[in-house]
Amino acid sequence: MVSISTKSAILKPLERKSVMMRPENWSASTVLSAMANLAWQGSQFINRRLPSRELPEPNWAPGKLMRSWERSSPQLGFPRTTKSLCPKCNAAAVNAFVSGACTLSEFRAVPGVIDAEIVEEAGRILMRKACDRHGPFEDVLATNAAFFKRMESLYTGGDFECTDDASVHDHGPLAIRSGRGMMLVFDLTNRCNMKCSPCYMNANDQGYVHELEMSDVKDIFQRALSFKPRREVNVLFAGGEPTLSPIFLDVVRYGRSVGFKRLHVATNGIRFAEDPLFAVEARSAGLHAVYLQLDGTSNQGNWHRGVSNLFDVKVRALENIARAGMRTTLQVAVVNGGNNHGVGEIVRFAVENIDKIHGVVFQPIMLAGRDQDVRDEDRYSRRYTLSQLADDLKQQALIDWEPLRDWFPMSVYGTFANLLDLMKPNAEVGTLYADVHPNWGQFSPLLVNRKTKQFLPVSSFFNVERFMSDLVAITDGGRGETLTKAQLILSVLRNYHNEKAPAGLSPAHLAGLFKSTVLRFRSDIPDWSDQSYAEIGEWRLLVVTGIWFQDLYVADLSALRMCTTPVVTQEGEISFCAYNGAGWRQVVEHLHKTATLREWHKEHERHKIYANGALVKISSDASSNENAEHERAADVVAHYTGR
Ligand code: SF4
Ligand SMILES: [Zn+2]
Repeated sequence: MVSISTKSAILKPLERKSVMMRPENWSASTVLSAMANLAWQGSQFINRRLPSRELPEPNWAPGKLMRSWERSSPQLGFPRTTKSLCPKCNAAAVNAFVSGACTLSEFRAVPGVIDAEIVEEAGRILMRKACDRHGPFEDVLATNAAFFKRMESLYTGGDFECTDDASVHDHGPLAIRSGRGMMLVFDLTNRCNMKCSPCYMNANDQGYVHELEMSDVKDIFQRALSFKPRREVNVLFAGGEPTLSPIFLDVVRYGRSVGFKRLHVATNGIRFAEDPLFAVEARSAGLHAVYLQLDGTSNQGNWHRGVSNLFDVKVRALENIARAGMRTTLQVAVVNGGNNHGVGEIVRFAVENIDKIHGVVFQPIMLAGRDQDVRDEDRYSRRYTLSQLADDLKQQALIDWEPLRDWFPMSVYGTFANLLDLMKPNAEVGTLYADVHPNWGQFSPLLVNRKTKQFLPVSSFFNVERFMSDLVAITDGGRGETLTKAQLILSVLRNYHNEKAPAGLSPAHLAGLFKSTVLRFRSDIPDWSDQSYAEIGEWRLLVVTGIWFQDLYVADLSALRMCTTPVVTQEGEISFCAYNGAGWRQVVEHLHKTATLREWHKEHERHKIYANGALVKISSDASSNENAEHERAADVVAHYTGR
């Protein structure tokens, strides 16, 4: 039986340090590191003197692969000016379209764009803007200016501009202009079996149903392949609650059949908890992994969503998902003064359950949907920034977790992608590329010991920052596969600080962990999840990520144009923030609504909505029916796979 641990992995910091550190017996490794450093310097000296070759132009790309200085960058630094939106003008434009007072072209051209300034003041980063009609607006982008500055300083440059994408990205000043995106979000339905606050998409409060049909799904997948750059991409089925869609399993199967190799679902977990077979069916249909919404590590910590045993539900869902052979990423919406005091506990919960959990994604609340008309004082008090997340985790996780050493912009994943693209110039599809604006996406990799459940930031013993700049140098050098691999090995060795590493870890372990991380980006392997999930070594990486989704108050259009999380709709691929934060959701749903709620209820059974403290029925003892469940699960797998 798969067991879930809900206890915290807490050792006093000094105890852990003395257990994990290895001050003696390290000289051989340290000498190796020093020698690798010398060899690295030598290799780069030669690299600079050898004539550099022209980089290839793969079929999937709209041009030749780029060196670092050829890559684009949004304007960074502050003070700076950018374009943003007036919350009131945008709301008026959406209402005008929905009421028929303006056309789609008019809404598309004038969604309420105004000038904005990003400034540093009293150690914080603020956005200020003023509308001629509606006056000034101010909001906070970071509570720690040094953290914000660090993220911008580590940005390594963007991906290709899109070509042949007129039918995909036709959204005026809010259109995506570069890259393939790393996550295609399919909102399969706006129905949900919960009624939470917060809910950025206002589920169950609209008078209509909007669901994708199979023909929509086929068109959308087709369109996703129609422009360049063509890259590997994660697909995320979302909603509402996507598992309520009657075609959910068919959609997963179809995605798999047309070559999408990274299929995920974002769920509240109720369906997975209620029915263990559902996870097995989803895995058999081709699903690879699950994003599970979680706000805290107790029923009380999740109670505000209206279900009184919601944490028990999450635990059971995790168990069923793991039993079906998938891993879960926890997805946490963070509200300042709401659940931010529990972010460290959530990371410790993930560490305790490291065999089932791949990572944790913290998403500061997006003031959209039910929260769009928030009063200014509530907005100020609930606003949570990624710099605050790094500071809260430092305070709460009880490990040496430094915001200015251990956190990186997600765009540094792009350094892996650039290198892999260089090594595989004949690939059909480019590597998965996370060209996330440095203000939007940040991450911190942790190393976890699967047996002892001790954990620490990777960059406390490995110079991640220098490793990333080595990757850029290797890619810019543009050498063949053998020389590239040799430089990679030297870089891993020279950046590894053995004296700071935990006992039992070697550079070889680390190289293995990087290799398995790279499985998540590579385009040339048929099933990354089988390989990745088969790893059973003593060490595992847990990636903690912070994603800042922009609402109308903090929208920065220079970041939106490079959005890597497009929502794929009947009206093309739309930035997640433009869709959920700037009115495009209402526009698309208005144009393509499936039925009014009344019509829907007439034709279909009403589904249950858990709200107002409802209890979700899950069996109290998972092991009682275990054998019977296993037998039924085996039948389902056989049914779908023919084995
Ligand atoms: S689970 Fe809650 S937040 Fe998610 S769509 Fe449903 S109501 Fe909204
Ligand atoms: Zn205005």
